[in-house]
Amino acid sequence: PEPSGPEDKRVAIEARGIVKEFGEGPSALRALDDVSISIRENEFFTLLGPSGCGKTTLLRMIAGFEYPTEGAILLHGEDIAGLPPFKRPVNTVFQSYALFPHLTVEENVAFGLEMLGRSKAEIKSRVAAMLKLVRMEELAKRRTDQISGGQAQRVALARALAPGPKVLLLDEPLSALDYKLRKEMQIELKRMQHETGITFVFVTHDQEEALTMSDRIAVMSKGRVLQVGSPWDIYDKPADRFVADFIGETNFLTASVLGIENGLARVRLKSGAEIVATLAEGVSPKGEATIVVRPEHARAVTSGGQVAGAVENVVYFGTDTHIHVRLDAGDIFMVRQQNRRTQSCGFEVGDRVGIEIASDAAQVLRD
Ligand code: ATP
Repeated sequence: PEPSGPEDKRVAIEARGIVKEFGEGPSALRALDDVSISIRENEFFTLLGPSGCGKTTLLRMIAGFEYPTEGAILLHGEDIAGLPPFKRPVNTVFQSYALFPHLTVEENVAFGLEMLGRSKAEIKSRVAAMLKLVRMEELAKRRTDQISGGQAQRVALARALAPGPKVLLLDEPLSALDYKLRKEMQIELKRMQHETGITFVFVTHDQEEALTMSDRIAVMSKGRVLQVGSPWDIYDKPADRFVADFIGETNFLTASVLGIENGLARVRLKSGAEIVATLAEGVSPKGEATIVVRPEHARAVTSGGQVAGAVENVVYFGTDTHIHVRLDAGDIFMVRQQNRRTQSCGFEVGDRVGIEIASDAAQVLRD
């Protein structure tokens, strides 16, 4: 292994130039295409992307169920290619919790510890601590075919955490839960990660889930990592069109770049208005560029604004209202306005409106 500086010591898992192909020859499917990421110790790290982008394959590689065609996985700086799954300080929670239905909650949690040959006393105290962590002490004696989905999820977590893995891999563990329970478990998972200090690597295709739980997110598409950053980075400073579109709702506008100064671009919109936009990392646009504006960073106005058009749709969401405006240049622009309790948004289909884009709202994307 290469010498590691003090910075590297904080890296728990590193994927270096990972390529994974299934099958051989011209019909081979490239599931991962040169993926490199570093996951830090004690981090809640999420692999986010649409179905088929390769996130499960990457997770399975960390677990040792799958081997890279090229590249290496390092755990605390050591290449773990030769280590079988059960020898890795890593545990996995799957989408289907795979609990033993005929065993009780505490017997399920104790199972892995028994397999490892831990002493009776140690198992007892460890199981108690885990059930406390997941708030399932009261149901310790209940058989797991007699508990709810959310409770089963907690037991699966307790069972995976019991042997004290350094890294916990979670493959869409909340997808079987209903909306409300999923929201609750998101907060709970974050708390458990914080309390145990274990590195969590979480796989999901749900952008909201990724934003609410993660310290950092890797956004993936078609076997590649497009951007790695904090939820804030990913949402407010998306690198490219895919990331901007995948993470929440957004507006794209075509603009011509007039000049760049102090890391900001002055651009002209199709309406003729000029605005200043920040630049996605590593972008130095010339000529035509795509800029992105989140719907909550713009508002509809009866006169003025940098672009204008006609209201095509008004959609009420309780907390806010989405106003879809067909711009004069032809594109649709969506504005999200927070609702007031005693007042409607004030716009109706067919109204002529201007759109005021906030001064720090626009960003130029990578091509
Ligand atoms: P999902 O959210 O649907 O699970 P994913 O992002 O986790 O998707 P992967 O399961 O990693 O995606 O799959 C990536 C690609 O590799 C897909 O095109 C998939 O069909 C393919 N693939 C995965 N496992 C195998 C396998 N064992 N044999 C052949 N192809 C596979």
